[in-house]
Amino acid sequence: MKKLVAVLLAGVMCASLAACGSDAADESVTSDAEAVVEETTEETEEAAADEAAAADTEAAGEASGEVTTVTEGVLTMGTNAAFPPYEYYDDSDNVVGIDAEIAQAIADKLGLTLEIQDMDFNSIITAIQSGKVDVGIAGMTVSEDRLQNVDFTDSYATGVQVIIVPEDSEIESVDDLEGKLIGVQEGTTGHIYCSDDYGEENVRAYTNGATAVQALLSNQIDCVVIDQQPALSFVEANEGLKILDTEYTIEDYAIAVSKDNPALRDAINTALNELIEDGTVQSILDKYITAE
Ligand code: GLN
Repeated sequence: MKKLVAVLLAGVMCASLAACGSDAADESVTSDAEAVVEETTEETEEAAADEAAAADTEAAGEASGEVTTVTEGVLTMGTNAAFPPYEYYDDSDNVVGIDAEIAQAIADKLGLTLEIQDMDFNSIITAIQSGKVDVGIAGMTVSEDRLQNVDFTDSYATGVQVIIVPEDSEIESVDDLEGKLIGVQEGTTGHIYCSDDYGEENVRAYTNGATAVQALLSNQIDCVVIDQQPALSFVEANEGLKILDTEYTIEDYAIAVSKDNPALRDAINTALNELIEDGTVQSILDKYITAE
């Protein structure tokens, strides 16, 4: 697996991606059997591998049998589809992107149909709590505050907050943000950190990243603090903007699930870890994120 390294926020509980690689086949072949001829060992290895594969399938199967969702047979996902390449509209008006594909792969494993509901990022956690959606999959960062209101699955990607400025800006690094007017997406970690670090009076919150970038283009604000991948998409789509080299924070993305539905969280974790182990998650990330 390439570089899916989960960087933990201080104090935030979040399982590591690498922890799931139990190698049942290797472990089951013990070395104390001097009398065992090689052929037998091979058979044992094969049998153990088969058993491990069967256990995986069973685990996902069992998990899906137990889950209850808002609408029977459906996994309803809340997202904000203005966050490329994680979620955005394609030319045919479908929500596509990394999160949509990972959600589809999880739904398939759980035997559920995926339904995507687009909403403001700031409404997703309430939508989970009020039983409107089952999960929030929206490049959502695990944070201590959010953990008060929802549960998170294991992490599936790393996010970085960056700073977008006009090409001729005098802002050169995160150290120059003091006293500047900073645009953010409402309710995001960028919004929270900037308000804490630079004061609410210096922060303008927009309902999504695209609107914040429009405000920057029309000189209403001095910069936009936003997650790196959408930042790259916005800068590519609009002339005259650049991303500063200095990163603001590094975070873990995970799927938010209701605290009242631990069975669903567990089933998603089983499915997600299978998708991480077999390389599906990495290949989805690679499809949308080209190496710089
Ligand atoms: N990662 C950021 C957060 O969780 C932004 C997510 C988003 O805007 N979709 O707050």
